[in-house]
Amino acid sequence: MAAACAEMEPAAAPPSSPPAPVAASPGSAGLVCAQGRNLKAVLCQRCGSRVLLPGAATFARRELLLPAMRKKATADGDGDGDGDVLQEHWLVRDMFSFENVGFTRDVGNVKFLVCADCEAGPIGWHCLDDKDSFYVALERVAHE
Ligand SMILES: [Zn+2]
Repeated sequence: MAAACAEMEPAAAPPSSPPAPVAASPGSAGLVCAQGRNLKAVLCQRCGSRVLLPGAATFARRELLLPAMRKKATADGDGDGDGDVLQEHWLVRDMFSFENVGFTRDVGNVKFLVCADCEAGPIGWHCLDDKDSFYVALERVAHE
């Protein structure tokens, strides 16, 4: 688990494949503008708290392992190793671009992003080795 940021390169596309527009992926259809930015506001799925304003992030494809979403009620007994590999993310370059966001305590050199209001999450991923990259998983948030 602690080796989650071992791969420095996102390995987005094999060199042989033709450059495809990122907006063409099915999971992000209607969410990404021509410039690759988020068309809609990003909200917490649980409480609707606003995480990002439209245009605050760019679409990025990267394999990241996020622990399974947990409810605030389960205070302890986190199931280790229980998680999802997520591919589609909003990449935020500046922490101050967030409207609201919270962080878990460090897990190795990784922090996970959670809703600032209800602590639903993890909704995203941040590696302390790359202080200018915050990833918010499309599947873990709502869009409006
Ligand atoms: Zn919330």
